[in-house]
Amino acid sequence: MHSDIRVCSAWTSAHDRPVYTFAETCPECGADAVNSAPAPFSPEDRWGEYRRKLKRRARE
Ligand SMILES: [Zn+2]
Repeated sequence: MHSDIRVCSAWTSAHDRPVYTFAETCPECGADAVNSAPAPFSPEDRWGEYRRKLKRRARE
């Protein structure tokens, strides 16, 4: 099953942490939201655990 979760494309400059959303724009700053995987800003996938927790919560 495909997940459509997205992340604010400007979170690195606009927020302290990734802002995830299912909408096409960030609910906090209005920037474009982009598909969260693969994460171009995170070659180490340092937010992978955070993202997996978010996905798990979203399925419940
Ligand atoms: Zn944002």
